[in-house]
Amino acid sequence: MSARRRILIAGGGAAGISAALAAAETGAEVTLVEMDGGLGGDLFSGMPLLGAFTAKGMQISHGILDELLDSCRKIHPAGVIGPVCDYRTVVGLCLDPEVLRLAVCRLIGEHHVKLLLNTMIIGAEVRQGVLESVRVRSKNGGSILPLDSAVDATGGGYLAAMCGCNVFFGGEDKTFQPASLVFRMCGVDYGKLLRHIRNHPEDVLLCENSALPADRGEAAELLERQGMPYAAFAAESSLLAPAMKSGRLHPCTAAFITPTAPERGEVCLNVTRAAGVDCSDDAAVSGVLPALAEQVIRTAEFFQQGMPGFADASVSHVFHKCGVRESGRIEGEAVLKQDDVISAAVFPDAVAQGCHHVDIHGSGTAQIRIPVRDGLAYDIPRGALCPKGLKNVFAAGRCISSDRGANGSARVMGTCISTGQAAAKLAAEI
Ligand SMILES: Cc1cc2nc3c(=O)[nH]c(=O)nc-3n(C[C@H](O)[C@H](O)[C@H](O)COP(=O)(O)OP(=O)(O)OC[C@H]3O[C@@H](n4cnc5c(N)ncnc54)[C@H](O)[C@@H]3O)c2cc1C
Repeated sequence: MSARRRILIAGGGAAGISAALAAAETGAEVTLVEMDGGLGGDLFSGMPLLGAFTAKGMQISHGILDELLDSCRKIHPAGVIGPVCDYRTVVGLCLDPEVLRLAVCRLIGEHHVKLLLNTMIIGAEVRQGVLESVRVRSKNGGSILPLDSAVDATGGGYLAAMCGCNVFFGGEDKTFQPASLVFRMCGVDYGKLLRHIRNHPEDVLLCENSALPADRGEAAELLERQGMPYAAFAAESSLLAPAMKSGRLHPCTAAFITPTAPERGEVCLNVTRAAGVDCSDDAAVSGVLPALAEQVIRTAEFFQQGMPGFADASVSHVFHKCGVRESGRIEGEAVLKQDDVISAAVFPDAVAQGCHHVDIHGSGTAQIRIPVRDGLAYDIPRGALCPKGLKNVFAAGRCISSDRGANGSARVMGTCISTGQAAAKLAAEI
């Protein structure tokens, strides 16, 4: 029997990284198991961390997030752009994803987290509601990892499911939000892009949150003054609509553009989408990769030829896997509900907070966006992290117990970091 508590973290995305660091800080012996060859999940794609700052700009995630930011600044101060408002509905924390990647690796090393990459959890030994060990497999063979407690940060509740917990997938009609392939372009003239937005506010999505200015012209001006191109060119805009109509561009709600590295004139582009994919099925998700890659090629060409500020831009990074917005949600002792999110609910047993709007992408140009009341934050109750019937396993990240609407908010990375930290604390305490 080990003298130190053995905490296993399943999954090394935003939630798992946060959980591993937080668990290590309790003095536990921490093993992080990730089936991918590298850490991060979607964390290093270049998308802004949402759910860490409210629409009013108040930081609601602390602890591990602050450590990550400090570590980034030590490596390269310009790697932290900071909170940026899109004057539509959010304040996103914008970072250079490559600096963030290095910062995470450094912190994992400094915290002496035992890292098992290319290793998949394939089974669980549970006795009377207590997870005693997991079976893992890598190319070197299989082994058994005994543990005292665990955090399921697999993005889909896969560990909880192996332990016998119910997991719900997608919407009631079993549809999923579309899969997307995120990419980055460098050599973008931020100033030119922002000037276009100031002169043509009708081209972008603005003013969807009562906590932000309501006048589109004013919002576009504030965006330009901020100096960072955080903008969503709308499907109906004069720039995108003709291209979508002619089939030159695939249909999507908007071209979401966010800054990643001003020194490289780099932005992240979240534009591609493959709808109607069963995101709980690895084969189905794998199957849309070529089509999404074609969308990247065509979108980049379109941007170079027609988007203000992109004339000299080129693709600098294509994310290595299809992004899945939605997968499994555990059945927990409590369920975070869409109404809790929208009404900025307060719970006496809150263990974390979120603040992102209910954000559910549909097929074609459809997307549901419902802001949290008054630009506030909502509480996440302890029970949403506790898989029903399990005593020493806690969920973190996208797979926490939530209805589909609430998951459309709690799935974002800032909130995943918060629930990862909270789950680690629970795993250390029991
Ligand atoms: C296109 C797209 C755009 C998005 N835009 C934003 C945005 O702008 N801002 C934002 O904050 N969020 C955004 N999100 C949401 C956000 O990126 C994810 O919901 C979040 O990163 C999920 O983090 P996670 O740690 O819960 O799960 P993941 O990042 O999925 O991590 C789970 C990890 O567990 C591993 N794993 C799974 N099963 C096993 C197993 N059996 N054994 C070992 N390892 C396992 C996986 O390999 C994976 O690395 C977006 C998502 C997508 C797809």
